[in-house]
Amino acid sequence: MRWIKQLQSERRAWTLALLVLGLVCPTASASGQQTSAQPATPQAAQPPSPQLPSSPPSIPAAIPPRPPELRFVVVLDAAHGGSDAGAILGIAGLEKNYTEALAIRLHALLGARGVRSIFTRDDDATLDNDARAAVANRANASACILLHATPTGNGVHLFTSSLPAPAQPAAQDLRRAFLPWQTAQASFGTQSLRLESNINAVLTAQHIPVLLGRTSLMPLDSMACPAVAIEIAPLNAETPLGDPKYQQKIAEALTSALLEWRSDWRSQP
Ligand SMILES: [Zn+2]
Repeated sequence: MRWIKQLQSERRAWTLALLVLGLVCPTASASGQQTSAQPATPQAAQPPSPQLPSSPPSIPAAIPPRPPELRFVVVLDAAHGGSDAGAILGIAGLEKNYTEALAIRLHALLGARGVRSIFTRDDDATLDNDARAAVANRANASACILLHATPTGNGVHLFTSSLPAPAQPAAQDLRRAFLPWQTAQASFGTQSLRLESNINAVLTAQHIPVLLGRTSLMPLDSMACPAVAIEIAPLNAETPLGDPKYQQKIAEALTSALLEWRSDWRSQP
C-alpha cells in the first residue's frame, strides 16, 4: 500500500506543477489571456483545427504588435504661455490663454472619440521651442497641431513648414532617428500637406474661411511628425474669437479632421 500512497503523492505533485504552468486547467490559461494587454489575438480569431482536437491551447511565442489605433497619438501645442502672452485678442483675452483653452477642449473631444492626445502644456508654463519639439518627437507623434490665435483676418489660417524636401528622402524607419533637429520637419512635408488638406476640407465644409500658407516657424520646423500650425481668427464681424459656439465649432471640426487623418495614417506604408 505504501507504493500506492507514493504514486498518489507524485501524481499530486505533477498535477500541481502542470497547474502552475497553465497546461491542465482551461481557466488557468483563460485568466492568463485576460491579464494580457491584448484582448484578442490573431490565434483566437482562427477557426479550431479539425486535425488537432485535443491539442493544448496555443501559447503565443511573443507579445503581438500593438494595433495601430493604440499607437496613434496627437500632440497639441498651445502656443505661448507663461511670460510669453502672445497677441492681445481684445475681449477674448490673451493668446496664451486662448490657445491653452482650445488645446484642453480638443483633448477632451479627441479623448471622447478614442484618440489619445498629449499636451506640450496644459497650464500657464513658459516653454521654449526645443521643449515643445521634444514632446512631439519623444511621443513619435502621428499628428502635431500647433495652436495660435490672432485678432486680425477671418476664419482659420493653416500653415505648413516652408522647409524644402530633402534631396533624397530618408527611409521610413530611419526618419525619426537621424533627422537634424532644426529641419526635422523637412522629411514630413508630404504628410503635413495631407494633414492640412484634411483640416482644410472639414473647415470649408463647415463654412469657415480657410487661408493656406507655408512658413518657417519654430517649433514647427523641428517637429518630426505630420504637423500643421493653426491660427484662429474671428469668423467675421458678428462672430468674434471669444464666441463659445465658434470655438466649439472649430474644435469639433479639428477633431473630425484628425479622425479622418487617423484613417489616412493607418493606410500609409
Ligand atoms: Zn501666436
